[in-house]
Amino acid sequence: MTEQEQAALPFGLRPVINAAGTMTYLGASRVAPRVIDAMSRVLPAFVNMSDLQRRASRVIARATGGEAGCVTASAAAGISVAVAACMTGDDLYRIEQLPDTLDGKSEVIVQKGHVVGYGASLSQAIRLTGATCIEIGAVSGCAGYQLRGAINERTAAVVYVVSHHTVQTGMIGLRDCCAMAAEYGVPVIVDAASEYDLTGFLAAGAALAIYSGHKFLGGPTSGIIAGRKPLVRTCYMQEKGIGRGMKVGKESIVGAMEALEAWLARDADAIRAAEEARIARAEQTLGALEGMRVFRIADPTGNPIVRLAVAPDPLRCGLDASALSRLLAAGEPSVRVRAHEAELGYFQLDPCNVTDEEMDVVCARIAELVRGERSKTSGAAPTAPTPADAALADLLRWPD
Ligand SMILES: *Cc1c(COP(=O)(O)O)cnc(C)c1O
Repeated sequence: MTEQEQAALPFGLRPVINAAGTMTYLGASRVAPRVIDAMSRVLPAFVNMSDLQRRASRVIARATGGEAGCVTASAAAGISVAVAACMTGDDLYRIEQLPDTLDGKSEVIVQKGHVVGYGASLSQAIRLTGATCIEIGAVSGCAGYQLRGAINERTAAVVYVVSHHTVQTGMIGLRDCCAMAAEYGVPVIVDAASEYDLTGFLAAGAALAIYSGHKFLGGPTSGIIAGRKPLVRTCYMQEKGIGRGMKVGKESIVGAMEALEAWLARDADAIRAAEEARIARAEQTLGALEGMRVFRIADPTGNPIVRLAVAPDPLRCGLDASALSRLLAAGEPSVRVRAHEAELGYFQLDPCNVTDEEMDVVCARIAELVRGERSKTSGAAPTAPTPADAALADLLRWPD
C-alpha cells in the first residue's frame, strides 16, 4: 500500500498489509479502479433492478458458459438461495413458506469432507432454508453407493464444495457426482466461491455454480450464481422469500458485472509473472535467515497461485509460526499472513494482494522479529493461542 492510500483510509482505520490471500475478514479484495468507477456511475441513478439483473445474467452467462446468472449478497447467500431454488422450484407459495418446507423436497446431500467452514458453516447456509443437511461418507472417504443410497424423493440437491478447505482426497469427483445425481434428476450445486475456474464446474455437469464477487474477481462484496436458466430464475425469485435479506443493491450488481468483465480482459500471464517474482524475492530474503526454512506450496484446488511457506524453527528463531504471525499482525502496519496451518509449523505468504513494496515490508518485518526474539529468548517457544483463538477473543470484546 502506498503512503497515499494509507492516508486515505477513513475513520482512523489501521492500515493492513494483506499477505494472507483473499479474506473477507480483511476486506476481501482491492477493488479495481474500473470497477469502482462503474459503481460510482450507477449509485446516483435510479434503475429497474430486474433489468439490471437481466443484464447481469448475460454477463455471467458469457463469463461462465452457463445459460443465465444472477447476483446475490455473497457466495454464502448464494448457497442458501440456490438450495432454496432447488427446494421450491418456481412455486411462489413454497417460496413464501420457507423455511417451512411443507411436504416438498427438503434434503440436501453433502459429502462429509465438504462440510467446511468459511467463517460460518456450509451446513448452516443449507439449513437456513429449512432443508436438512444429509452428510454422507466420512472425512476419510466417500463412495458412489453412499451418494446413491442417500438420494430419495425428498432430495432437493447435492451441494459440492471446491475449496482448499475441503478434504482433498477420497471424495467423489465432481464429474462422477454430477453423472450419478443426474440419473435421479437431482441438481448439483457447486460452491466455487474462491475458484479461478469460471467455466469448468458447469461444464462438468453442475446445475449451478456459485462464486464470490469479492474474492479473486476483485469486485464488491457480492455472490454470483451461474447455471441452468430455470434454476437461476428460481434463485432470483427467492427475493420474494428467504433471499430478501440476501439481495444486493445496484452498485454491487454493476460492480460484480464490471469485475467479471475486468477478469475476462485481464493479462493472466503478466499477473502470474508478477506474483511469481514477489514469491521469488521473499524466498531469497527469508530463506537466508538463520533457522528459517521456506518452501513453495501450490494451491491445492488448482488455482494458479504458488504461495511461500515460512517455517521458523522455534528453537533457533525463538518463535514458532503461530507466535510470529501474531506479532506481525500486532505491528504497525498490521501484517497479516496465511496462518490457518500454523499448527504444522509454518504460515504462508500469498502474493495476490500485496504490492512488491509491501512484500518487502513483510520480509523486513519477519527478519526483524526473528532477530529480535532470538536475542531476547533462550530458545523456548512461547505458548500462544492460535490465530483463531485471537480472532474469537476479539469478537467477544467487540465493539470495544
Ligand atoms: C469464501 C467462501 C465462501 C463464502 O463466500 P462469501 O462470498 O464471502 O460469502 C463459501 N464457500 C467457500 C468454499 C469459500 O471459500
